Amino acid sequence: MIVMKFGGTSVESAEAIRRVAAIVRARLDRHPVVVVSAMGKTTNKLLAIAAAAVAGELDRALTLLGELREFHLKEAPGLGGPVTEHFAELEALVRGLAVMGELTPRATDAISALGERLSSLVVAEQFRQEGMDTAHVDSRSVVVTDRRHTQAAPLFGQTNERLSKTIPPLAAKQVVVMGGFIASTEDGVTSTLGRGGSDYTASIVGAGIGAEEIQIWTDVDGILTADPTILPGGHRVKVCSFAEAAELAYFGAKVLHPATVLPAIEKNIPVRILNSRRADSPGTLIVRSPPASTSPIRSIACKKNITLVNIVSTRMLMAHGFLRRIFEVFDRFETPVDMLATSEVSVSLTIDNTSALDAICAELATFADVTVQDAQSIVCMVGENIGASGTVVALAFAALKDVKVRMVSQGASQLNLSLVVDASDLTRAVESLHREFFTNFDPEAFE
Ligand code: ADP
Ligand code: ASP
Ligand code: MG
Repeated sequence: MIVMKFGGTSVESAEAIRRVAAIVRARLDRHPVVVVSAMGKTTNKLLAIAAAAVAGELDRALTLLGELREFHLKEAPGLGGPVTEHFAELEALVRGLAVMGELTPRATDAISALGERLSSLVVAEQFRQEGMDTAHVDSRSVVVTDRRHTQAAPLFGQTNERLSKTIPPLAAKQVVVMGGFIASTEDGVTSTLGRGGSDYTASIVGAGIGAEEIQIWTDVDGILTADPTILPGGHRVKVCSFAEAAELAYFGAKVLHPATVLPAIEKNIPVRILNSRRADSPGTLIVRSPPASTSPIRSIACKKNITLVNIVSTRMLMAHGFLRRIFEVFDRFETPVDMLATSEVSVSLTIDNTSALDAICAELATFADVTVQDAQSIVCMVGENIGASGTVVALAFAALKDVKVRMVSQGASQLNLSLVVDASDLTRAVESLHREFFTNFDPEAFE
C-alpha cells in the first residue's frame, strides 16, 4: 500500500481531479490510499463565511456560501445531491452562528471540515465515473484526536487500531479515498488537525497501515532550495533527511506540515514530495539517512511576520531562575517561542503568535525592561552538515555583509542556522545566501 495525498491546488477543479485520477490509475498495483485536501481555497472561504456570520453580516455570509456551493456543483457534476445536502448543513451552522455571535473552536471545526468532507466525496465519485473501483472512508471515523479543536492532536493508540482494521482490507481490492485534515474526538465530535493538516493525515494514515511510501502531491516539483514565493528559480532537492524536512517545515516551508514526518520517522516510511502537474518529475525523497552530500546546506526556509521580544534585566546577572520566570509567562499565555538568544543581562526571543503579546509584555514588565520589534523575518538554513562544517557561519555572514542581522541562533540539533532580519531585508538576504550556497551545487543532491 502507498498513501497518496493531493493538496488543494491538485484538486481545485474537475480538470485537476481528472489529472489526479490518471496519476492514481497509473499506480493501482501499489494499492493506493488517497488523501485529499479541500478543493482550491475552500477552507479559507469557509472560514470567511463563518467570520461574516459572527460579525452580524448574515447576508454576506449566505452570498459567499451560495458562491461556494455553485463552485462545487460546477466542478463536481454528478454529485448534486450530496453537495446540496452538505451546503444545507453549512447554512444551518451559519444561521446558528449569526444568532450566537460567537465562533468557538469547536464550531470552527464543524465548518472548516466541510471542505474535506466534500472534496473526498467529489474525488471518489470522479474515480468511480472513470471506472476505478473506489471506497470512500470518512476520516472522522478512523482518525481520533484530543479535544483541542482547530489544533487537535491524534490519539495514536485508537487511531492506529481503527486504521489498521479498516483500511487494508478495503485497499486490497479498491482505491480508498479519504479527506485530510478532518478527524473526530473520542466522543465523535468533528475536529481538525490545524491548517495545512492534510499532509499530517497522510502520514498518520501511512504509519497506521504500515504503508511502503507516503506521497505528498502538490504544486511544486518537490522541496526547493528556497521558498519559491520569496525567491523563484530555486533548485529541486533530490533527497533529504526526515530531520531536515521537519526543520524546514517548522521554519516556514509550507510545502510540508511540520508534524508530517513524525509518524513516518517512527515506522521509517519514506516520504516523497511530487508535482501533480508534472507527474514525471522525480520530486524530493525524504528518508532517514540520505547519502552524504558535499553541500553544507539543503535548503533555506523563511518565516514571515515574526515579532522579536527583547527582555533586559540587571537582576538576571548572576541569578538563577530568571529564564524559568520568562518562559512561565509565555507558557501561561500558550505562546510558543521559536528562537532564543541570551546574554549576561538580556534575553531575545521570537514569536509568531502575537495574540497575547500585550498581556505577556505587561507581565514581563513587572520584572524586566521589554522592547518589541515587529515586522521581522526568520531566515533558516537547514542541513545535517551544518554542525560538522566549520564554514557555514562564516560563508553566511560574508554573504550577508550588507544586511542587518538582528539575532542569530544555531539550533541545538546542529542542523539549522537561523537569523532574524527586518522583513524589508528578507528577499535580499535569501538571494544572497542562495547565491552563496547554491551557485555551484552538488548535482547528486540537487537539480
Ligand atoms: P498543498 O495545497 O498541495 O498542500 P501548499 O500550498 O500547502 O500546497 O504547499 C506548497 C507550497 O509551498 C508551494 O507552492 C510553495 O509556494 C511553498 N513552499 C514554501 N517553501 C518551499 C520550499 N522550500 N520548497 C517548495 N515549496 C515551498
Ligand atoms: N484544507 C486544509 C487547509 O487549507 C488542510 C490542507 O489543505 O492541508 O488548511
Ligand atoms: Mg499544504
